[in-house]
Amino acid sequence: MKRLFLFMLLATVLIACNKTAKKNADSDNPFMKPFATKYDVPPFDQIKIGDYMPAFEEGIKQHTAEIDSVANDAAAPTFANVIEKLEFSGELLKRVSSVFFNLNSANTSPEMDKIASDITPKLTAHNDNLYLNDKIFQKVKKLYEERATLGLNAEQSRLLEKYYKNFIRSGAALNEQQKAELREINKELSSAELLFTQNVLAETNAYQKFVTNKEDLKGLPQSVIDAAADEAKAAKKEGQWLFTVQKSSFIPVLQYSENRELRKELLMAYTTRCNHDNKNDNKQVINTIMKLRVKKAHLLGFESPASFILDNTMAKTPENVMSFLDKVWKPALAKAKVEAAELQKLMDAEGKGEKLEPWDWWFYAEKLRKQKYDLDEEQVRPYFKMENVRKGVFGTATKLWGLQFQKLDSMPVYHPDVEVFKVTDKDGSLIGILYTDYYPRASKNSGAWMNNIVDQYIKNGKEQRPVIVNVGNFTKPTSDKPSLLTMDDVSTMFHEFGHALHGLLTKCTYPSLSGTSVKRDFVELPSQIMENWAFEPEVLKTYAFHYKTGEVMPKELMDKINNSSKFNQGFTMTELLSASLLDMNYHMLKDTTAIDVNAFEKKTMEKIGMIPQIIVRYRSPYFKHIFEGGYSAGYYSYTWAEVLDADAFQAFKETGDIFNPKVAEAFRRNVLEKGDSEDPMTLYKRFRGKDPNPEALLIRRGLK
Ligand SMILES: [Zn+2]
Repeated sequence: MKRLFLFMLLATVLIACNKTAKKNADSDNPFMKPFATKYDVPPFDQIKIGDYMPAFEEGIKQHTAEIDSVANDAAAPTFANVIEKLEFSGELLKRVSSVFFNLNSANTSPEMDKIASDITPKLTAHNDNLYLNDKIFQKVKKLYEERATLGLNAEQSRLLEKYYKNFIRSGAALNEQQKAELREINKELSSAELLFTQNVLAETNAYQKFVTNKEDLKGLPQSVIDAAADEAKAAKKEGQWLFTVQKSSFIPVLQYSENRELRKELLMAYTTRCNHDNKNDNKQVINTIMKLRVKKAHLLGFESPASFILDNTMAKTPENVMSFLDKVWKPALAKAKVEAAELQKLMDAEGKGEKLEPWDWWFYAEKLRKQKYDLDEEQVRPYFKMENVRKGVFGTATKLWGLQFQKLDSMPVYHPDVEVFKVTDKDGSLIGILYTDYYPRASKNSGAWMNNIVDQYIKNGKEQRPVIVNVGNFTKPTSDKPSLLTMDDVSTMFHEFGHALHGLLTKCTYPSLSGTSVKRDFVELPSQIMENWAFEPEVLKTYAFHYKTGEVMPKELMDKINNSSKFNQGFTMTELLSASLLDMNYHMLKDTTAIDVNAFEKKTMEKIGMIPQIIVRYRSPYFKHIFEGGYSAGYYSYTWAEVLDADAFQAFKETGDIFNPKVAEAFRRNVLEKGDSEDPMTLYKRFRGKDPNPEALLIRRGLK
């Protein structure tokens, strides 16, 4: 959930800039030709930092020529000479963009960041050159108006509609002066959003807390102490312990450290990132971003960024989102208040006279969990060795759909932590290639995500199967211990793998419609549904083996996990939904008056009745989901999709078999294979036979 799903609409983010690209004769630039590798994976071993910029420039040049030829084609517009031409244009640019932006998130460097800053405004301008090209827009418009008479199949109609809407939403129907204004806004916006992310990464990496006194580590599990010692050693301070604001480092401190000051210090360091008056401060950047987004919405005829953004989702309007959130927020907050009182009681019993604060919540929740369910995260971690969990994840897909996973050892990778798997169907045919890249490093953004490296599509009758990556930031193996995941990490791995399946199993013709290129509030269904299998005893017994003894997790421990699954859900949902509400409050702004970010946030929290013992999951200055772009007025999507996933999993449970082959098949055919080739609600109802019902979610979360 805190998992960021990186979503690059490359096919539509395409884009033109006649900047003279150096005539690139260098035949050794691997981007210049289709990758001549097995399974069409990028030749990571041959790509050099100097290859990107020439490939971007040449890619933009070639794509511009293709766009011009569509615009200047004297023939009457047809689906083939306009839409299909555009859809399959810009191959070089797609090749370099997808590799570059994947690595810019997963394995960046100062040089890569510099290229990103240089190329991003050019790509935005290129995108504008396509979507603000009036000759092309007139052709698309004509086709759209005549769509009923063109003899198109369902997928083609959907593609035509998508192009038409993209043009309208990009400002194609504006006059010349407005178009120029929009271009300027887009350019400034993409730079500001990029700066926001770079500030968050810089500030996250900059923070180091060295503990020098062993006394201060009281309460921490040995594995956490060892990892912190390793970190300190790597930072050339042997004999000390290093904690950072990476979640894998500070969350265990919040859960277990008896040192209240240390807990407070780390939580405050995490929650005040980019909120200090220094060069990484994002408060002013937020103002810039919001002002530009409001201006853009107005220009395109919408009253707020939220109305503009939501017009292109399943939810459709801000009112629908707010009324949806309200339905879940009230029971969540009520539950959180009950939980807070329980924790306070625990503190009172200690007789220190302390009042529950945000840095106490995790610690006492952990104690309460132990008291109520006798479940301690450290008890279960030895059963969650990374490799074993991954086997469980793959095995679930084998059991549901017959998919096979074969590790490939001699494939080119961009970092030694990356592993490559060939995925095949039950009949042996190729589904696609999956990369996993699970450990944190300074060159990687925080969080977890899935991304396409190569899209699936069919061109001239030949099918391209996809190449997909799953990235995470799980605890690294230490010198004497393998990577042992937390329960949250386990869910995350299942979650990202769900996105991967959506990308892998897709069967579409057009890349703009294939895989995860769906409406944003539908995209989390395939990921979140996979989390349902993670801790089912039937699944646990296939992968939860003790890393030392090889023994399967005892039944009592499995039961404890499942009994405690509703534990602390008031807190979790309150943290999550308050972030959704903060997001909506920003994006429902109707004017460009300057905002005092901290005051705005405080006012929003007061308005929704937030309790002081919980801090919103993301405070504004590091709320990347919404200020980087991808999930603006969209953080609600996680909960929206959760209604769908709980209801969809219910379809399995109703049969008494969580691996029911008929239900699995229906989910694959109607959801996982379909991409955006049809309306998502239509697809969902075809799978389920009825509308989604929120009941299953409230029950699962223990809110009802
Ligand atoms: Zn996701």
